[in-house]
Amino acid sequence: MYDKQAIENCKSLLKDYLVSHHSINPNNFFNCLNPVHEDRHPSMKYTDKFNKCKCFSCNAFYDIFDIIGIDYNTTSFKEQLQILEKLYPDYKVLNDDKKIDYTESNEIIDFTNYFNKCKKNICKSDYLLQRNIDLSLLEKYNIGFDETKNLIVFPINENCYFARSTINNSKIKSKGISYIWNENLIKEANEKSIIYVTESIIDSLSLESIDPNIKTISLNGLPNYKRLLSVSKDNNYNGIFVLAFDNDKAGNEYQSLVKDELNKINITSFGTTMINNFLSDECKDLNEALIKDKEKLKRNYEYFDDVFKKYIEKNRIKKGCDYEL
Ligand SMILES: [Zn+2]
Repeated sequence: MYDKQAIENCKSLLKDYLVSHHSINPNNFFNCLNPVHEDRHPSMKYTDKFNKCKCFSCNAFYDIFDIIGIDYNTTSFKEQLQILEKLYPDYKVLNDDKKIDYTESNEIIDFTNYFNKCKKNICKSDYLLQRNIDLSLLEKYNIGFDETKNLIVFPINENCYFARSTINNSKIKSKGISYIWNENLIKEANEKSIIYVTESIIDSLSLESIDPNIKTISLNGLPNYKRLLSVSKDNNYNGIFVLAFDNDKAGNEYQSLVKDELNKINITSFGTTMINNFLSDECKDLNEALIKDKEKLKRNYEYFDDVFKKYIEKNRIKKGCDYEL
C-alpha cells in the first residue's frame, strides 16, 4: 500500500524534525516526548542507528511518525504521512492528492471543531456520572467525549486540551502550552481570593461538585507547578492558595515543595488534609473521596473551609507567612 523505501527515507528526517519543531539538540538527552511521562530529568535520547528516540525511563521508542502522531494528535498512519509530506514537500510517499485539513502553522492547532464534535457525544459516556461529577459542570466547561478514542476531553483553550481514557488509566495532553485548568482565576484574583489547587481536573471538578462557588484550579501534573509560580508572579497574585494534592508520597512531597516556592515569592498557601483518614480505608484523591462518600467529603470540606476562613480573617494578613493550622 505504501512505498516501503520511501517511508524508510522519511525516518531519517527525525533528527531535523527534533531540531526544527522541538528545538531539541539531538546530541544531548532531552525531556521525554511521551505526553504521559512527566519527565523531570531529561531521559530521552536520539539515535541515528535506528532513526528513533528512546526514553531510558519509560522505554518509549519513537520514530518520526510516532512523534508527529503525538504532536498532531493522530494515531492514523496515513494522516501522519500526510502531515509529514506537508512539512517536507520533497518527500513523496502518498500517491493520492487528498490532503487532510490542519492549520498552516506547525505549532498551533485549532481544536474548536473537535471540541464541538466531542461535546455532542458527551451523553454517550457515563464516565463522569460514575465519578459523581455534577453534570452541570460538563456544560460549563464544554467537556466532551471522543468516541473513537474513548477519551473524555477537557478543553483548556482552543489550542490545547487534556483528556483521560475511559477504558484504561492513560491521560493525554494535546499539543500546546501546558496551561493550568481555570488559569483565569489567577488572573482575575484579588487580595481576598482563595483558590484551591488540585493535581488533576477531575479533582477540581470533584470540589466544584460539592461547592459550586469554590474557586479551584488544577495543575494537570504536579511538575506543572512551575507554571503556577510563573502565572502567579506575572499577575501579582495576592490571594491565598489552598493546596489539595493527592494523599500519596508524590502529593505530600510536592505540597511542601510548592508551599516553599510560593513562600519565596511572598504568596501565602496552606495544605489541606481533608481526605486523610477519610474512611476506615484511606482515599488517594478527592475524586475517590467523592465517589466513596460525597456527604462526608462535603462535611470535611465545609469544616476545613470554615475554620480556615475564620483563621484567615483573624490573622489578616501577614503576607508570605507560613501559617500552621
Ligand atoms: Zn519517557
